Amino acid sequence: MNENVIIGVDIGTTSTKTMAFDAEGRILAQSSQDYSLYTESDGHVEQDPEEIFRAVEGTIADVAEKVKDRNGTVEGISFSAAMHSLIAVDENGNPLTRSITWADQRSSREAEQLKASSKGQEIYKRTGTPIHPMSPLTKLIWFDKNEPELKAAAAKWISIKEYLFYKWFGEFIVDHSIASATGLFHLRRLDWDDEALHLAGIRRGQLSKPVSTQFSIGGLSDRKAKQLGIDPQTPFIIGASDGVLANLGVGAIKPGSIACSIGTSGAVRTVVPEPSTDREGRTFCYALTENHWVVGGPINNGGIAFRWLRDNVFDDLAETVSDPYEYLTKQAETIHPGADGLLFLPYLTGERAPFWNADTKAVFFGLTLNHNRNHMIRAVLEGVLYQLDMVVAALKTADVEPMEFRATGGFTKSRAWRQMMADIFAADIFVPASNSSACFGAAMLAMKALHWIDDFSTAVAKVQLQHRHVPIVENVKIYESYKPIFHRLAESLQPEFSALSELTKKRK
Ligand code: ADP
Repeated sequence: MNENVIIGVDIGTTSTKTMAFDAEGRILAQSSQDYSLYTESDGHVEQDPEEIFRAVEGTIADVAEKVKDRNGTVEGISFSAAMHSLIAVDENGNPLTRSITWADQRSSREAEQLKASSKGQEIYKRTGTPIHPMSPLTKLIWFDKNEPELKAAAAKWISIKEYLFYKWFGEFIVDHSIASATGLFHLRRLDWDDEALHLAGIRRGQLSKPVSTQFSIGGLSDRKAKQLGIDPQTPFIIGASDGVLANLGVGAIKPGSIACSIGTSGAVRTVVPEPSTDREGRTFCYALTENHWVVGGPINNGGIAFRWLRDNVFDDLAETVSDPYEYLTKQAETIHPGADGLLFLPYLTGERAPFWNADTKAVFFGLTLNHNRNHMIRAVLEGVLYQLDMVVAALKTADVEPMEFRATGGFTKSRAWRQMMADIFAADIFVPASNSSACFGAAMLAMKALHWIDDFSTAVAKVQLQHRHVPIVENVKIYESYKPIFHRLAESLQPEFSALSELTKKRK
């Protein structure tokens, strides 16, 4: 059978995953390759751009070969990449730094100072990127102060995807989506923001040319095309960032349809027709296309809170139970919704949305003699969801009325945890059958760019769903009474977290 396929490439923080899809969205071939994260010095979390380049090319070549074995033809390749990466390069595109990832913390102080200023708030409103050490804006300010020689030597500052496209096509181009997560890009004008550039201490010419996420380029060298096993004229569609593509890939693009993930961290995101920022700075807004924007918020403490509980409170299980997560979620089901008044604020690793405070700490609140370890499990699982629910509430300021959620990430393995989500969010939860949402989202952009589909709704209809959870009315009522307490507690403790943090810093 001769099949036309599109390859979606998802360049993640720890690996690149590459998949070939047919016109029906079926996965025909896949390949993935891991790479290292370098965290040697304080707060640095970096990747080697060359290692990523090899992984991306290796997985494309692998998938292209599998496609050829099925007599298929690669009609286009499209790319998803993690947001916020930053690489300094010389005028020939040679890296002067590693790729500094979103997780890098070195610019924490610069972010704190900028966030506290009115200029910081204005920049957030124009760019949609929260003022946070993840963003290239604060990283550039850090380089200004700490590595002025390198700052002066850098010809360009680019992201990992720009690096790959430069190596293949010799052009510095950046898609609107990745650009919109730099903190340097004016959302409405779809162009670099002069004031942010000034603050970052760089010139326009040091950044790539912004292009649409459906921008396509071809004309690989014959040698490179042969190495990748594709035709030199195969269009490369630049694609977007992983977060916004995951929305597309799970089919959450209708008004009120919200993508929600809980892996190690967590996030909720939804598509809106125009850029939208929050008066209180709680949410992000990134570009998907010229008329699709993604608003949402990330939380640090998703499944990591459950992992902490497994490894620190239930470490005795490791020897007796084959799957501790499954065992623990079963135990949680023996406890009433609301954990008989025990609440858990899950801030084990600081928190991003909605308060964006790195000093927050976790709290069990409401403990009595009647609570046991199983209550703690239930409280932890519920606490992560209460936190995400606060971010969902923040989306309402962007006129989003949540109707349904599309859930992904490790937590979806647990039926009990999924049902808790339906009950706490008071909405239907759907779980897609495949966990390849960013790859599929990238492929969908290519399908649109290459006119395989007229609009995304055709492709979204092809997203297969595996589970559906409907809220249980009695549970919704219980959670509705706990939610305001959680919210007030979280809000009122923010200054105490900072005071505690100051104290522990001084003691060190
Ligand atoms: P990552 O974001 O690092 O890719 P995953 O999406 O694999 O992570 O999610 C990992 C998290 O999923 C774990 O920390 C844990 O909280 C949760 N998890 C994994 N397996 C289960 C399970 N069987 N039941 C409930 N939660 C689980």
